[in-house]
Amino acid sequence: MMRASFVFAAILGVTIVAAPAAAQTRALKSLQIYVIDVEGGNATLIVSPAGESLLIDTGNPSSGRDAERIVAAARDAGLTQIDHLIITHYHADHIGGLPELLPRFPIRHFIDHGPNIDPMGSGAKLEAAYKEMYARATHTVAKPGARLPITGVDVQVVTSNGEVIAKPLPGAGQPNPYCARFKPGTNNLEDPMSVGVHITFGRFRTIHLGDLTKNKEFELMCPANRLGTVDVILGVHHGQATSNSEVIVHALRPRVIIMNNGTRKGGEPEVMQTIFSSPGLEDLWQIHFSLLSGQEHTVPGMFIANIADDQPAAMPIAPITAPTPGPGTPPPPAHNGPAYWFKLAAEPDGTYTVTNTRNGFSKTYRPGDARESGTR
Ligand SMILES: [Zn+2]
Repeated sequence: MMRASFVFAAILGVTIVAAPAAAQTRALKSLQIYVIDVEGGNATLIVSPAGESLLIDTGNPSSGRDAERIVAAARDAGLTQIDHLIITHYHADHIGGLPELLPRFPIRHFIDHGPNIDPMGSGAKLEAAYKEMYARATHTVAKPGARLPITGVDVQVVTSNGEVIAKPLPGAGQPNPYCARFKPGTNNLEDPMSVGVHITFGRFRTIHLGDLTKNKEFELMCPANRLGTVDVILGVHHGQATSNSEVIVHALRPRVIIMNNGTRKGGEPEVMQTIFSSPGLEDLWQIHFSLLSGQEHTVPGMFIANIADDQPAAMPIAPITAPTPGPGTPPPPAHNGPAYWFKLAAEPDGTYTVTNTRNGFSKTYRPGDARESGTR
């Protein structure tokens, strides 16, 4: 008994001594990415090893709900301000949370694609208020090819205001074999204007293209693949089928995709099929369970950060068809309970770990373990 306690204490002692040192090393070395649940909108927080922050979008207008979730992630990262904010485009699921976020958390630098081009768009009524916000801070109109000033992390604008980078990134520019069977998609006015960024940290590469639509994916990726390959694709336009053609999803050869979908927004069969047939893909992580998947297309719960509060007695095999939004349409299944984020921590050697904060499930992706390591 005595001996057992002593051994236990000794193990505990080692753990206690070792933990702070390990945590500190990690905090100093890794790039942190929080994919925050904003109920089918977008809010992705990127924090450099030195603590410099880039927030991509601010979620929905929601009486502070989404803003509070962003603040919670920012506090978890030890931030006291947002250094850089990209508003990818002026739809309410991207800019709508901003008036609720700004009083809660200072923002130093606003980046966008220039003026809103859709006066009937869902976020258009915020335009005047937004201009006042950035007039009191630093403001940059993003141009393809420009770099954002974040120490230790290379953030390059690859799309903005309907334009794409003219030249391939270093090492990219190979013919894209998926262009031959590309089928054009449909566009609204603002999605194709999205500010898209390519992020490099050591050997780790990721991309966030806002809600860039298929036709712009084609301009960016055809006939030559201007981006090369990435480790992770972030966002994927909520997993909606107006984006996510093979010319981008397959050609970028991600090992991991993290989707910012909602309970009945995105994650639909066409996109799930494109993602799961993507060469070299290992895992899709979804910020939400989507009823548009059904049993046929969903990922295991371990890879889902948030589940619906009102759970049906049984999940149908086929996807549930979404009613056309409009007056009288029933609201999507509620998710008003605790919201969980995914946290990705990337090391300079290209190793990265994704953690589901709902269930603690975590997986590490090491460069040498890639299924097609020859291509990386
Ligand atoms: Zn959106």
